[in-house]
Amino acid sequence: MPDNGHNRRMARKKAVVDAAIARADQDKGLLLVLTGNGKGKSSSAFGMVARSLGYGYKVGVAQFLKSRRDTGEEKFLGNQPNVEWHVLGDGFTWDTQDRDADIATAKRGWEVAKQMLKDDSLHLVVLDELTYLLNYGYLDKVQVCSDLASRPAAQHVVITGRAAPQCLLDMADTVSEIRDVKHAFRSGIRAQPGIDL
Ligand code: ATP
Ligand code: MG
Repeated sequence: MPDNGHNRRMARKKAVVDAAIARADQDKGLLLVLTGNGKGKSSSAFGMVARSLGYGYKVGVAQFLKSRRDTGEEKFLGNQPNVEWHVLGDGFTWDTQDRDADIATAKRGWEVAKQMLKDDSLHLVVLDELTYLLNYGYLDKVQVCSDLASRPAAQHVVITGRAAPQCLLDMADTVSEIRDVKHAFRSGIRAQPGIDL
């Protein structure tokens, strides 16, 4: 094949990518934060659960704000032998607006999460929709960050939810902000099984 500009550019690019891959030679338990207003935060987290299970690892999931229990992720992943699945947000009192009761629910939930953050048999812990509890002030950000920091060194944690507080962004290894460009719901399409729930 005759050499041309395209091939030379691709070879240079490959050399740069290969060098970057060679430099990234460390292993560590990562803190990942998936935030922003676009769709794809929790489903990405459950994608990493599936990946981890594919290697035979154990995974813990805590869902902090759960408006429904009939989701595909709970039906499928909640029954897997290597998954510990906790729904911790069933007790929030949206109707009665009882802030003290909500704080008590949040604190009880965090105690369960903390047990997972002490369990070094868990390769990955997903704290789904945790950001809301921090933003509402139901949980103390400093305490949550300190509990996250003292987890087992090899344990990965994924936190999802809109408007992740700065302290989480600061301590995270990987942060993705998913931007809402458009969403079918705004065109009158209801949540679709397998896609939205
Ligand atoms: P998903 O679970 O689909 O990855 P998410 O975790 O990024 O979504 P959440 O705020 O937790 O987003 O919302 C969960 C539900 O709300 C899903 O059914 C999702 O499709 C829908 N949703 C997410 N973002 C938007 C949006 N910008 N507008 C309307 N509906 C949304
Ligand atoms: Mg979500």
